[in-house]
Amino acid sequence: PPRSGASSLDDLNDQQRRAVEHAGSPLLVVAGAGSGKTRVLTRRIGYLLAERRVHPGEIMAITFTNKAAAEMKERVVDLVGRRANAMWVSTFHSMCVRILRREAKTIGLTSGFSIYDADDSRRLITLVARDLDLDPKRYSARTLSVHLSNLKNELIDAETAKANATNDLERRVAEVYVEYQQRLAQANAMDFDDLIMRTVEMLQLFPDVAEYYHRRFRHIMVDEYQDTNHAQYVLVRELIGKGLPDVPPAELCVVGDADQSIYAFRGATIRNIVEFERDYPNATTVMLEQNYRSTQTILDAANAVISRNSGRRDKRLWTAHGQGEKIVGYVGDNEHDEASFVANEIDRLVDSGDANNNDIAVFYRTNNQSRVFEEIFIRLGLPYRVVGGVRFYERREVRDAMAYLRVLANPEDTVSLRRILNVPKRGIGDRAEACVSTHAERYRTSFAAALRDAADGKVAMLNPRSQRAIAGFVELLDGLRRFVDDGQDVAEILDAVLEQTGYRAELEASDDPQDGTRLENLTELVTVAREFAEGPGITPDDAPPDTEAVAVPESGSLAAFLERVSLVADADSIPDGDEESSGVVTLMTLHTAKGLEYPVVFSTGWEDGVFPHLRALSDPVELAEERRLAYVGITRARERLYLSRAIVRAAWGQPMSNPASRFFAEIPADLIDWRRTGPDRAAPTRATTWGGRSGGGLGTTHRPAPAAKWKDTPALSLDVGDRVNHDKYGLGTVVATDGAGPRATATIDFGSSGTIRLMLIGSVPLVKL
Ligand code: ATP
Ligand code: MG
Repeated sequence: PPRSGASSLDDLNDQQRRAVEHAGSPLLVVAGAGSGKTRVLTRRIGYLLAERRVHPGEIMAITFTNKAAAEMKERVVDLVGRRANAMWVSTFHSMCVRILRREAKTIGLTSGFSIYDADDSRRLITLVARDLDLDPKRYSARTLSVHLSNLKNELIDAETAKANATNDLERRVAEVYVEYQQRLAQANAMDFDDLIMRTVEMLQLFPDVAEYYHRRFRHIMVDEYQDTNHAQYVLVRELIGKGLPDVPPAELCVVGDADQSIYAFRGATIRNIVEFERDYPNATTVMLEQNYRSTQTILDAANAVISRNSGRRDKRLWTAHGQGEKIVGYVGDNEHDEASFVANEIDRLVDSGDANNNDIAVFYRTNNQSRVFEEIFIRLGLPYRVVGGVRFYERREVRDAMAYLRVLANPEDTVSLRRILNVPKRGIGDRAEACVSTHAERYRTSFAAALRDAADGKVAMLNPRSQRAIAGFVELLDGLRRFVDDGQDVAEILDAVLEQTGYRAELEASDDPQDGTRLENLTELVTVAREFAEGPGITPDDAPPDTEAVAVPESGSLAAFLERVSLVADADSIPDGDEESSGVVTLMTLHTAKGLEYPVVFSTGWEDGVFPHLRALSDPVELAEERRLAYVGITRARERLYLSRAIVRAAWGQPMSNPASRFFAEIPADLIDWRRTGPDRAAPTRATTWGGRSGGGLGTTHRPAPAAKWKDTPALSLDVGDRVNHDKYGLGTVVATDGAGPRATATIDFGSSGTIRLMLIGSVPLVKL
């Protein structure tokens, strides 16, 4: 093995080296952004393989995205060669799928179970809620799914939830939960949260199964530990085990940064990091203090913002990179002005050779903010890529095609089956579907079985035309299933689906331009399937000696393809730094940016009510979370950081005035060079530096901020409870106020339109009643 490269620790600092070499007790590496935590994990794996003679099959590393997993694996392969492929490097979810497929029989599933993503799961919840006659206004599928997910993240099963329910809401949720789990089981399916919860259950209930994994995995590593939830925490503990008579517990190494915990809404709890030493009494903690990513200016800004959060362990990050450029601040008249500033600045940086497009990232708080950037980038011919948003696999036609594939792999997959029942239209209407579903309920059979009964004329109230249509559909699926049984590859199966269902023909015949796009997407899906079928697929499991291999779906098979697609996460579509994607600016939300780094970062929409999010303005806990998000955003930048906002931004189709984000005021003023300031910020007026080199474009579109108008508006003084009238929104009640003078804002509940809005008091047509 290429020993020297793998084990040389010369390019690590002392603390990093300590973490890499540490052996025995559980190890926690806590450190701020960019201090090399992920690098420590990768190098530790290399060290285990090269110096401690660990078999690659004994290593399990857990990352936050599949992409991060692929990268980590690639790095280790670079260090020690191809035998590293036997490691398990994956996300929590992929790891659980792998275990559950192997152990499916133990928990009463067949190994071809479907994985329901958020959308499938919500569809099923909708069906359940409808059958339970719940008021959709009070119990929306969205709300219910959040409740179910929270329960699962806490490892509370349906029966326990039912037994513990103390109020009406909890009882309803538990009712839905019980029924939902039954339908999942009937459909031979699991949702994302189940993957974790069922794995935990299995390890706890079946000691012999657990023992297999205890013997097999001797080293467990977790990146981004601050974003693990309770279920994942317990899962890690179960995988480590308490030790067997002849083998000690596995070695654990987790790395994280409590200041970057940004997934509380998914149940992530920094408790897992804060109380690591209590959970693992013999734990060792290593702290890293040198940042290798950013300039001192960027770090100072990040530290200043995050230091406003209370109850945190103070960390001092330093860098040898020097002060670097100042942060650039910009205030746009509106979101279009802000976007053209970003676009023109990118142009300027690229023209002057200061950066390539792929060195640059644009961040925003929520996906819908990408549209304005996309519009201007398209107009200026600036190549870009949006990560997240309506993703390829979420498009209707792609989901339809995938649903067919899923039904072929798992005939009991009810959600997929009902999705495609009448797609393309084949005369199976809602009434016919209802008859089949009633039949299924009455005879306690699956929907798939009820469909067969319907085809045989055994379903009551079904008219002959529907019966014929259903018989045709059942026959169609049987015919397609033969392609699977014959061992055809995924691309061929998919092609047959599009052909024999008439899906492709229907789109081809249409003159709706959207259908043209749909056709292209399906062609793209066939390409994806073909590449998958021809590619290496999933590497076969190479277990360490003395343990038996874990079965993985045969590479290139339908099951393997479905598994891959169901586990694709947002961050997986980030372009790599290779030629084909070089020269592309990346757009993404702050959440997606975690763990990444770019030489140039534009963080946009820094407005109270946008970022921090409206919800957070009156809630200190949420505000602290938004501040961590700001910390994550700032610390992605290596050399240059731009922070911008718009004075007016359209929201729900109405122009809204948002005051500057409070996070601006938390950054020391001398770190920011304002290209253009807004009317409601008392900042040095450097507006004239703007537009110097951009060579047209922006310079001409720029209008001076309408400062006079704003300054002269007499400040209306409002208190909580005041009634107001707004020119557009009508009557409202003040629910919160903040700031003073020209920066004073009020959050106003306009009950009639059902919206709560945050307004800069002096800048909106508002009168106090
Ligand atoms: P985050 O908190 O954002 O996940 P991190 O702590 O995981 O960051 P890394 O991504 O591992 O940090 O490292 C940040 C950058 O610093 C990377 O480009 C990495 O290659 C580099 N780096 C880390 N340690 C060293 C070192 N000892 N010498 C040189 N470069 C380093
Ligand atoms: Mg990292």
